Amino acid sequence: MAPLPGIPGIPGSGLAKGLAVTLRTMTKRTVTAQYPDALPELPPRSRGVIALFEENCTVCMLCARECPDWCIYIDSHKETAPPAAPGGRERSRNVLDRFAIDFSLCMYCGICIEVCPFDALFWSPEFEYAETDILDLTHERDKLRDWMWTVPAPPALDPAAEEPKEIAAARKAAEKAAAAAEAARRDQGSRDDQDEGDA
Ligand code: SF4
Ligand code: SF4
Repeated sequence: MAPLPGIPGIPGSGLAKGLAVTLRTMTKRTVTAQYPDALPELPPRSRGVIALFEENCTVCMLCARECPDWCIYIDSHKETAPPAAPGGRERSRNVLDRFAIDFSLCMYCGICIEVCPFDALFWSPEFEYAETDILDLTHERDKLRDWMWTVPAPPALDPAAEEPKEIAAARKAAEKAAAAAEAARRDQGSRDDQDEGDA
């Protein structure tokens, strides 16, 4: 108990309290990680750096338009492809020339990742990309693509969840191809039997 105002406390009680605190702390397990010798165990959804899955990007510019810091730089050009069928129209598509993010401006809000309609941007928990020159904090598309290797796999679906549309379509196509192959094999087998019977 703290001494009452104006009444002197027991001599040496402060020292005893201090030593008691020291002893209590000494016997507790330490929680301080000695970074960089010991790397922290980060949760998989940590916001470390943004990775670009370039193959999914359609250059729609939504991420660059929505970024509150204007720190996403995209350049592209249009290309025309021949029509898919004779008499059809030529198709045009955007081709990505540059995709860069300036991490010296980025505030890690995640808006770009949220708004991307084509799943081309992802969070990676990787955080060790400090630079001595601020210009090196602008990561160009190759570097952003390399960060994809550090993006953790998505968590498994709930067992009761509906099958994702892409997987359902791929499974149906595979089942259809397997059924067609099986029918062709049976057809060939019955023709071979008939040939043997005729001979
Ligand atoms: S996380 Fe936010 S600030 Fe950073 S690039 Fe994306 S939208 Fe811009
Ligand atoms: S929003 Fe997605 S698809 Fe559109 S430009 Fe950005 S990364 Fe590419």
